[in-house]
Amino acid sequence: MNGVANLALERETRVGTIAFIDLKAQQKLIRERIEKRLLDVLDHGRYIAGPEIDELEKTLADKVGVQHCIACSSGTDALLIPMMGLKLQPTDAVFIPAFTYNATANAVLVAGGRPVFVDIDPSTLNMCPNDLDRRIDEAKQAGLTPRVVCPVDLFGAPADYMTIGTIAASHGLTLFADGAQSFGGKHQGSWVGAIASVTGCSFFPGKSLGAYGDGGATFTDDDEMAELCRSIRWHGTDNDRAISVRVGINGRMASLQAAVLLEKEAIFWDELKRRHEIAAIYASDLDGFATPQEIPPGIESGYGYYTIRTVQRDAIREAMTKIGVPTAIYYKTPLHKMPAFAHLAPEGGLPGCEAAAGQVLSLPMHPYLTDDQAHFVCDAFKAAKKEVCGG
Ligand SMILES: *Cc1c(COP(=O)(O)O)cnc(C)c1O
Repeated sequence: MNGVANLALERETRVGTIAFIDLKAQQKLIRERIEKRLLDVLDHGRYIAGPEIDELEKTLADKVGVQHCIACSSGTDALLIPMMGLKLQPTDAVFIPAFTYNATANAVLVAGGRPVFVDIDPSTLNMCPNDLDRRIDEAKQAGLTPRVVCPVDLFGAPADYMTIGTIAASHGLTLFADGAQSFGGKHQGSWVGAIASVTGCSFFPGKSLGAYGDGGATFTDDDEMAELCRSIRWHGTDNDRAISVRVGINGRMASLQAAVLLEKEAIFWDELKRRHEIAAIYASDLDGFATPQEIPPGIESGYGYYTIRTVQRDAIREAMTKIGVPTAIYYKTPLHKMPAFAHLAPEGGLPGCEAAAGQVLSLPMHPYLTDDQAHFVCDAFKAAKKEVCGG
């Protein structure tokens, strides 16, 4: 018998506590090295613009294979800062998917631009290139000036930059990437950060490369854009950091966060391999039972999250909680249904985003899950589904 009630009884002895994201297990592994790094900062006292910032920027730029990494205060600012560099007008359209975290839209609006929501592909859950084409035409007809396309690499999987990049180029648009969830993802052999012309990544603690507080980084090969970002990050100042030559923000990363990130980066690539192993277990065990986010050929997810689509999502989730398997819903509400952005909703809505919002379920995903725990998560899903849907 592998019903919900039995699995709930067995879980503790079979696999112990399953965490959705396990930062404690990771810290245990590198605690001493992190302490040493933090003490270095306390000793040199350069809490802002310490040597850790340069070291982190150089390390990340080298690993990703890009000319410039500009460390900053959050993933949101990693998008906002380069967007401010584009001097967007309220009639300048920035195309973003509506099935994303609210930060994507907020970055555009705070930078002074106009978000235009694009529907998602129901399989990949990322921006649909066909719908983008249509929204660009609509925006032009509405008197807007298309400027930027900013796909989101949802759950860690890079969007279809091949097709989207072609569309962007044919309209003369700048290609951004919201890579806040996808550090470690790959697209046609390029790491996230080196795919679009500008990429914003987040180092929020729960992201796959996370600090112990807020942090982010902008990646670009464009020398001019990199200079702009460095200036805007420091109140729009010139090189002596005293005279503002443009409007900017305080968008700096703290040296303490860079210290943490340096030690986390050192183990990140091994962790990424483990994330792929967990994903492979989920894909094989759930085959025929759930529909995982599709990762097309040529694309590798960074597996920030492992997300499936299922009918009866809420009831299944409740049964899994009873068993002791934590899950999460990203995202219950697409942006065009939120009060802050509802005035930007397209006529007819965005059916792909709305359908996904009712079906997505993210399973525990972190590199410290054991194989047994990953198999147990799948057993729990199957038992929950059987109880809820019968059969
Ligand atoms: C987390 C996230 C952001 C914002 O990152 P912060 O570091 O929290 O500011 C932006 N976009 C997406 C898709 C995210 O998941």
